[in-house]
Amino acid sequence: MNTDRHPRSRGWLDQGTAVILDNVARFDDDAFDQASGLPGWSRRHLVAHLAANAEALHRLTRWAATGEPTPMYSSTEQRENDIEQGARLLPPLIRDWLHDAVTLLDAGMDALSPAMWGNPVSTAQGRTVAATEIPWMRTREVWIHAVDLNVGVGFEDFPADLVTELLADVTAVRSARGKGREVELRSADGGSWHIAGAGPMVIVSGDPADLARWVTGRGVRGLASGDSAFPELGPWL
Ligand code: ZN
Repeated sequence: MNTDRHPRSRGWLDQGTAVILDNVARFDDDAFDQASGLPGWSRRHLVAHLAANAEALHRLTRWAATGEPTPMYSSTEQRENDIEQGARLLPPLIRDWLHDAVTLLDAGMDALSPAMWGNPVSTAQGRTVAATEIPWMRTREVWIHAVDLNVGVGFEDFPADLVTELLADVTAVRSARGKGREVELRSADGGSWHIAGAGPMVIVSGDPADLARWVTGRGVRGLASGDSAFPELGPWL
């Protein structure tokens, strides 16, 4: 995939992780019980998922370091079960779990040599990617879930170059799947991104942050559609 973004991913990741940790540090028990932006998930579920995902990506750093396959999750059931169990923990324990998992993932990434970063690992969807994708995979998780935490973080708070990278990545993933309408996304500053799919093509235009919100399935705000409605995008990851 795109190795150009690798040197920048770690910076985006560290910034996004700080946003998550700062907000979770402020949650009291009531705040933990509030709904997240994801259907059926409280913030407890979401923070448990963020902790479990950091552990899962740490396993990929071990895989890259040793060459011995250590998948992110042993099964979808195990992944979901860990989130359910984790969400039932006392809030201070959920918070500690997140801190420990973030520290573990950081250490795992710091331990990789330049050669190890080029080693292949498997994503949870079964795609083979270079280990350089690990910080990018985590970057997407921390920033988009920072929005899902319902703490007032929006796509307009993302670093501008991260929004551009996200638009390129998500439109490429959706194009490869090719299950929806053909869409051209156009930003007021002249950027454009294409999603391959069934015609006729729809042009969706707006600010990059609003386009990123829509294309990641987080709703329509501030956008214009060339059609009478916005095309259904379906799941992304
Ligand atoms: Zn996630």
